[in-house]
Amino acid sequence: MRDALAIVGGGPAGMMAAIRAAETLGDGRRVVLFDKNERLGRKIYLTGKGRCNLTNRRPWEEFAAHLYPDKGFLRFAFRAFSNEALIRFFEEELGVPTVTQQGQRVYPASLVAGDVARALEHRVQALGVDVRYGSAVGSLDELSDFGAVIIATGGKSYPVTGSTGDGYRFAREAGHTVTTVFPSETALLPKDYDPGLPGLEMKNVGLQLYIDRTLVESEQGDFNFTNDGLESGIAYHLSRRAVWALYNGQRVDIVLDLKPALSEEQLVNRMKRTEQAGGFRIREHFSASGTKTRAAESVSSTLEVYRLLPKSLIAPFLRANPDLTIENLPERLKHWTFRIVDYKGFERAVVTAGGVSLKEIVPKTMASRLRPGLYFCGEVLDLDGDTGGYNLQIAFSTGALAGVNAAKYLLSL
Ligand SMILES: Cc1cc2nc3c(=O)[nH]c(=O)nc-3n(C[C@H](O)[C@H](O)[C@H](O)COP(=O)(O)OP(=O)(O)OC[C@H]3O[C@@H](n4cnc5c(N)ncnc54)[C@H](O)[C@@H]3O)c2cc1C
Repeated sequence: MRDALAIVGGGPAGMMAAIRAAETLGDGRRVVLFDKNERLGRKIYLTGKGRCNLTNRRPWEEFAAHLYPDKGFLRFAFRAFSNEALIRFFEEELGVPTVTQQGQRVYPASLVAGDVARALEHRVQALGVDVRYGSAVGSLDELSDFGAVIIATGGKSYPVTGSTGDGYRFAREAGHTVTTVFPSETALLPKDYDPGLPGLEMKNVGLQLYIDRTLVESEQGDFNFTNDGLESGIAYHLSRRAVWALYNGQRVDIVLDLKPALSEEQLVNRMKRTEQAGGFRIREHFSASGTKTRAAESVSSTLEVYRLLPKSLIAPFLRANPDLTIENLPERLKHWTFRIVDYKGFERAVVTAGGVSLKEIVPKTMASRLRPGLYFCGEVLDLDGDTGGYNLQIAFSTGALAGVNAAKYLLSL
């Protein structure tokens, strides 16, 4: 076994490592790939809502802005196997045509995530890699016969796919530091979450993240209210910092701006213009005297008449703003505050932030600085990205680099 390489984990990182290692060694039989599951790349089938956003086409400088916590660590791996190289690999070597969509996101042209997983698995098999299906590695010790080992066990998110954080244990066994791991790209649950909100999709709105009442980040775009809270798109982007702040006992508020393209003043003017055109007075709608119910009905119809809110959002908006007046309406439309009290855990988080400390990994090879012959790649590392194809590119780039270098190490023995 001293002339063989063990790879633990057959996700995108592990499969890419196996492919490059087999090619470098010129003999796939010297690569043994262990995975708990009966098929490889199980998580890939879930990616991109079943469509697999396999990378992002942005050039490195823009790409790197979406990486955490160390934007520079991936530079060498990316240079060795970039997003463009990955697209060529899929199209020319694996026969999977791709398509680039909004936001430079790249998908298989079929928009079927399984096509990506199956193409990688077939390549691994075609190279003669010794795949041990249904094989959970329990400790690094079990692999002591191998000349080199790559840990590609992923993070802790979506544990049903097999990613249960085992790699952190293996890393510690070898003396590595594992930074605090926490769910990222996950739903943020507001206090007293209004039951009328789940299911609503927000298009082109603004979200601002306040930590301990200080504005730390603003985003504009789409997100959804789901049963779990504020989710996907720009909400996911803010979730990394929000979860970390909650984790540290800080106060987290998200402010929703329903009219990001208009200032409060512009909103007032727009209301006036509609008023003139319609020949009625907005103030009269608001000042309908009588019962509370009648007043609420009147405000509600005003919001609808002025097309200030989609119909489905009006009732929750009014419940959140019981003291709404014509004077404070523009301000409230731009500042709907949600106090965030919880988040969706690893069971449904898209990625795991934190992991094997990058300080102990050589960025040019993915080798451990502590144990010769040991390599790490993919989400097990303390490296993650925004949604948009960044996380799979991390897995592919670091996997390819680890595979080549572990094979070279083996050849040098
Ligand atoms: C719902 C969802 C959607 C996503 N969509 C996208 C997307 O569209 N684009 C994008 O870029 N990223 C996306 N991601 C993130 C991306 O899927 C991950 O970052 C990526 O899969 C990480 O790759 P990996 O190979 O490091 O780990 P994983 O894919 O987690 O693979 C790790 C493998 O290791 C195996 N394993 C673990 N422990 C052991 C052990 N002890 N013994 C043997 N085998 C073991 C597991 O069975 C698993 O197969 C998504 C994630 C989720 C959950």
